[in-house]
Amino acid sequence: MPEAGKQPKGVHAGRAFGLLAAIFVVAFGLAVLLLAADQQRVLEANDRLQERTVPEIIRYQRLARNLEQLRQEGERIFAVSSHASRQQSMFVVTLIASHPSVLEHPQAARLAREAEQFLGKVVSQSAQDEKRPAAYYEEWQRLAERLGIQVDDVSIEGVNLASGDLKLASAAMMLARYKLIAVLVLVGLFLVAFVILVRRHLIYPLQRIDRALSGLSAEHPVPAFDTSRMLEIQSVEEAIREHHALLIQNEEIRRGLEALANKDGLTGLMNRRYFMQSAEVELQRAQRYRRPVTVAMADLDYFKKLNDTYGHAAGDAVLRVFAERVRETLRQSDLVCRYGGEEFAFLFPEITPAETAILTERLRASAADNEVVLPDGRRVTATVSIGLADASECPIEIALRHADEALYEAKRLGRNRVVIGGGATVIKLVQENR
Ligand code: GH3
Ligand code: MG
Ligand code: MG
Repeated sequence: MPEAGKQPKGVHAGRAFGLLAAIFVVAFGLAVLLLAADQQRVLEANDRLQERTVPEIIRYQRLARNLEQLRQEGERIFAVSSHASRQQSMFVVTLIASHPSVLEHPQAARLAREAEQFLGKVVSQSAQDEKRPAAYYEEWQRLAERLGIQVDDVSIEGVNLASGDLKLASAAMMLARYKLIAVLVLVGLFLVAFVILVRRHLIYPLQRIDRALSGLSAEHPVPAFDTSRMLEIQSVEEAIREHHALLIQNEEIRRGLEALANKDGLTGLMNRRYFMQSAEVELQRAQRYRRPVTVAMADLDYFKKLNDTYGHAAGDAVLRVFAERVRETLRQSDLVCRYGGEEFAFLFPEITPAETAILTERLRASAADNEVVLPDGRRVTATVSIGLADASECPIEIALRHADEALYEAKRLGRNRVVIGGGATVIKLVQENR
């Protein structure tokens, strides 16, 4: 959690991505509306084509057909020789000239009326003289030519009408297509940007958190994170740092408790239980590799008397000073514990009983030659008896029993000495009591 009172800098991932999603929805919605409007225009153009333009085209076609028929009937008036046939054609001409499709188109209506009047004149004159129309044929041809041009104009007008609406429809479709492409490109760009943002601000930090969590331990340094911009991520990273600090604290407490559980309170040496565990492991290792290993038992001499004479606190002080001498004399690899009362047990890896005797003799001499200054200033000498035994071929309990037997022998021989034991039989005195 961020520290109280300190305002964390950054943005809420939930809000940031919610805002992005809202922008996307609004932009996409607008694009869809725009596209719908374009589609509407295309539909309208299509409807117009069907409802208005197509009937219009049909009307123009009909007009063109009527004008063409009018021209043909005029031609027939000049081609036939009987007056009755001419009157028939004239009837058709009159019908066409007054047909609604012709009347609707002012230019065509004017031309059709002109042709009707001209042909009417020709037909009425042919009633008196059947040869008379030939005199008007040249004039008719000019009129017929104008009729032909009018037919072409009307056809072109119809086609133009259709192509105008078709152009409008296809322009609207084209625009819609460009807009659709633009919208798709924008959506693509937005999605790419969204994925990049998600990767950079969510996925990568989460992967870093995952790595940090899987490697989190009191032995490793506190995980370092690049400052994230997302408050939720910052909060998790801060929690991991706090968790790491807690791990270290717990580890220190654990080590402290372990040390307390394994130590003797008075002397600070190992306690008996921890010594037995450690000695067991060390002994197995030595025996597996066939290496020499020796155990020892030491017991302070006349300790009860010392207690009785100087008091229990003096006895404690002597025990502490003896433990200090032990620590000074022994090698780092040697194991030692307060076995109980004023008794101490040892394990010496890599050396034989004879070599151990030299080491322990130094300890014995140190105890015998140096007085202990008691808390009240008085001085006492507390000697020690030590028994050694080879441990390279038997379990730790048996080896310690042999060492105890040698210790007993040391006591029996007058104390303040080192004795090497060898099972129940061989006992070798190392140093005579001085
Ligand atoms: P020996 O030379 O045969 O070893 O005689 P000893 O008097 O040392 O042997 P004994 O076993 O009779 O006496 C041991 C004494 O050690 C008895 C007990 O009061 C004393 N003792 C045991 N633990 C402590 C301790 O923690 N502090 C003190 N001050 N005395 C202790
Ligand atoms: Mg004793
Ligand atoms: Mg004793």
